[in-house]
Amino acid sequence: MQIPNTTPSFTDLGLDSRLLKAINKLGYESPTPVQQQAIPPIIDNRDCLVSAETGSGKTAAYLLPILQQLLVSPTKISGIKVLALCPTRELAQQIFGQCQLFCEFTDIKSGLITGGSDFKKQQLALTHHTDIIIATPGRLLEHLQVSTSYFQNLSVLILDEADRMLNMGFSYDVLAIAELCNKQRQTLLFSATLTHFGVIKMADKVLKTPKVVTLNTLHDGHSNITQQLILADDHAHKLKELAWLLQHESYNKALVFANTRLRAVELYDYVRGKGLRAGLLHGEIDQKDRNRTMALYRDGTVNTLVATDLAARGLDIKGINLVINFDMPRNGIAYIHRIGRTGRADEQGTTIALVKHTEWNLMAGIERFLQQQFIRRTIKDLAGSYQGPKKTKTSGKATGSKDNKEPVKKAVVKKVKVRDRDKKNVGKRRVPSNKPSAE
Ligand code: AMP
Repeated sequence: MQIPNTTPSFTDLGLDSRLLKAINKLGYESPTPVQQQAIPPIIDNRDCLVSAETGSGKTAAYLLPILQQLLVSPTKISGIKVLALCPTRELAQQIFGQCQLFCEFTDIKSGLITGGSDFKKQQLALTHHTDIIIATPGRLLEHLQVSTSYFQNLSVLILDEADRMLNMGFSYDVLAIAELCNKQRQTLLFSATLTHFGVIKMADKVLKTPKVVTLNTLHDGHSNITQQLILADDHAHKLKELAWLLQHESYNKALVFANTRLRAVELYDYVRGKGLRAGLLHGEIDQKDRNRTMALYRDGTVNTLVATDLAARGLDIKGINLVINFDMPRNGIAYIHRIGRTGRADEQGTTIALVKHTEWNLMAGIERFLQQQFIRRTIKDLAGSYQGPKKTKTSGKATGSKDNKEPVKKAVVKKVKVRDRDKKNVGKRRVPSNKPSAE
């Protein structure tokens, strides 16, 4: 039996014949994984957050679908349609080179704007019928000081190698440029790693409900966050682990995540009961108290903060170097947001997930989503009996149901006492039935 080849071709991705001709000329036989995953949502106009390394074919993964968009919906609106920002001149030149090759059989015009080249010529590119601009942030910002209107009609903003741009100190420039772009645009953020404080912060600011595509290799060498996991037998065991970690790990500021307000309150009371200096942050706490807690946390009066996701969104505090997920977050994006509170550009951070058997599959799903394996760790003084599922599937999830599901609670049917005096009325009209209702 012949096994069908499931890798889509460039034609399957719905690319225009003029682009297919260029692809063919370049000798690309089939799309790389990042191209397979990123091209369809980009053609669909979705914002995307993509983790992909240089060499994965990421440039074509965004250039081809945006060229496709330009070809199928040529707009009458004048001005630059696409802006790609990247960290270095060399990279900008490479992207520009690839763009020109892909555009060979089209009328699409592209321009390059980097430091070290003639400013006046670049101004012409910005004002004279250029569809795509590829630029480094510093020089482009100089042009925007002359006029702020170049990108008023922009359709797509691409931030390529966002992590590198942030490491090189371009965060302010990139955000300033994004502010001057059409608000209705589509935004694509490409980064070698998603577990980078600044990348998450930037993604929060520039992307709208993005499609996330992760393609990193297992060892994300770019990240300065060490991700660990500790197994737990049950809730009580987790509480002990939490207290132990807060008492024995060396950290400047710790952030403990709970999935619900009630759980956050419980953990806060618990760690305070252990004599730890902690603050609490959740959505029901009024702003004045929140501000007070944040001030205490910031100045180090309390060095542990127990929080829910909502409360921790956008939390930007220096010195958080331990993040504990008491509850596993519900999905990979929530996980990235949580751990992104540590490991700021210049700092190292550790995150520890406490995982009991009912959370194993959730954890395995997040590992798969991130394409990263958490470091398994045990606390000698608190060794438990749960060692993970006996067997796992290729996805990392537990085989069978015993290992990964909460015990199913039997439905409780409330018994209704039927009194003699009620039975007398059976069959008579307008008398309400005493049977338990299904509502
Ligand atoms: P990038 O990750 O964008 O820097 O691309 C790395 C290299 O892979 C570049 O030289 C591209 O021309 C090449 N490349 C991109 N996509 C494909 C493909 N589908 N097949 C073969 N080579 C490709």
